[in-house]
Amino acid sequence: MLQYVVYADLNCPFCYALQEQLQAMDLLDQVDWRLIEHAPDISVFNTTPESQAELASEVFTVRSRAPQVQVALPPLRSDSRFANLCVIAAREIDEAKGRQLLINLYRALWVEGKDISSTAVIYDCIVAAGLPGELSIEEPHEHCLQNWQHQWERGSYNLRIPVLTSSGEDEARTLLGLPSQEHISAFFGGEQPAGPIGSFDQCHGRDQQTIAFYGHDGVQSIWNVIAAVREDYNIILPASVQELRKMLNQPGETPDLILLNSINHFQSMLEDTTEIVHQAAESHTPVALVGDPLSDMDEIKVYETGASDYLVKDRANGILKARIRTLLMLKRSHDLLERAARIDGLTQIYNRREFERSLEVEWLRGQRSKQPLSLIMLDVDHFKDYNDHYGHLTGDGCLQHVATAITESVKRAQDMVCRFGGEEFVVLLPETNAEGAKVLAEKIRKTVEDLTIEHARSSAGEHVTISLGLASLNPFDNSNPRELIQLADDALYRAKSNGRNCVAG
Ligand code: GH3
Ligand code: MG
Ligand code: MG
Repeated sequence: MLQYVVYADLNCPFCYALQEQLQAMDLLDQVDWRLIEHAPDISVFNTTPESQAELASEVFTVRSRAPQVQVALPPLRSDSRFANLCVIAAREIDEAKGRQLLINLYRALWVEGKDISSTAVIYDCIVAAGLPGELSIEEPHEHCLQNWQHQWERGSYNLRIPVLTSSGEDEARTLLGLPSQEHISAFFGGEQPAGPIGSFDQCHGRDQQTIAFYGHDGVQSIWNVIAAVREDYNIILPASVQELRKMLNQPGETPDLILLNSINHFQSMLEDTTEIVHQAAESHTPVALVGDPLSDMDEIKVYETGASDYLVKDRANGILKARIRTLLMLKRSHDLLERAARIDGLTQIYNRREFERSLEVEWLRGQRSKQPLSLIMLDVDHFKDYNDHYGHLTGDGCLQHVATAITESVKRAQDMVCRFGGEEFVVLLPETNAEGAKVLAEKIRKTVEDLTIEHARSSAGEHVTISLGLASLNPFDNSNPRELIQLADDALYRAKSNGRNCVAG
């Protein structure tokens, strides 16, 4: 057995870069490359603006962290499941050719920008690896993928990839994310990574969705339905209808799907369902019923409660899984839409609309609590020149780094960082006076400066810098939220006039 194991996905650019680095260092054949799916329902969301922005940001990071690796932004992140299975099947036929298929698929996506969920693209990669064109995917290959998936999910990797582990006689060692060549050499030389777990730039796995099952007569009678999906989703079993409804009242705890069952109390179950559907509507959680085959009349009654589906519990696993997957995809789409309305696609922080909503809320809160409200408005210096010099895509990447730097400088939960528009950001600081805001503004200014992002055309320095204006008002005095924005904007103008890369109050 190989001493080194990597958990990776074909559709993660950090995993691709790690693979390229190991190959360049002639280490790839020492590694058991275990493919997993870090975003199993990727096909639902891979065309959303957030998803595209995330992808661009990851490619940007790979380029700056591993400049020797050739990588180009693909049009979208492909679903990797079938390609992963093909690599597993190919390795069984011929280890070396299987490894070549892995390399071919990675390059098809990350260099040539091809969609590796397409069978035609996979076919070309298979043939180029010297394998027979047709690979047959069998149950053991699916099991293999599933086993690796579970090992990765249960490992203490926080659903991150890539993971590089060593399972030698010495203590198990782990590197999380994309390490530099120096770190890779040190790791293969037997060194411990810095800290308990070396951690570099990485892809986040998508959280598993949660299904709540509730059976009036216990869950035993619907166990085969639970068994069909318990490997793929988080399962919760509330002990009573009350407990389930309590869950629906707590925003962070709402499940993604509710499945209800009752054999003996059909009528009372319909009544409960109506109420649960009503309550679950706010979080767009679908509710479905599970049970024995029903007459058409009874099934219509089920749909009249507002339930999304009726699942006959003794159907084949594959059918139950497919129906449940469809319901969960619906929920995922709703979640994504809701998020898109509040989050800026490029920087993944709140957008202007959400800022304006929060400003109103915090203004009213400040009136009640008699506490001051502060606002920092900041703008990237000479950003037009940055775009002109480095290109718009690099400009986008720069804005993402600035947004992350601001977010990381702000520690209090009630503080809010938003993209105001273009290269302007705002930080809303409830219960904060001018002095406190000034300290934070200075900290943000320095954090961005310390990113040392090269800016050859700035008069404010060699690196990307920002100018900040701050304003502080007492909402209980005679003023209004618009005035707070205007004051911060005026202060920002002064910071620009004072030579940029500074704070003005
Ligand atoms: P100053 O130091 O006075 O702020 O100068 P500036 O060049 O930063 O200001 P100006 O308002 O002239 O230019 C802002 C630039 O920001 C122009 C626009 O192309 C760029 N920009 C706005 N939104 C985006 C974006 O989403 N991505 C990229 N790459 N550039 C953007
Ligand atoms: Mg501007
Ligand atoms: Mg600017």
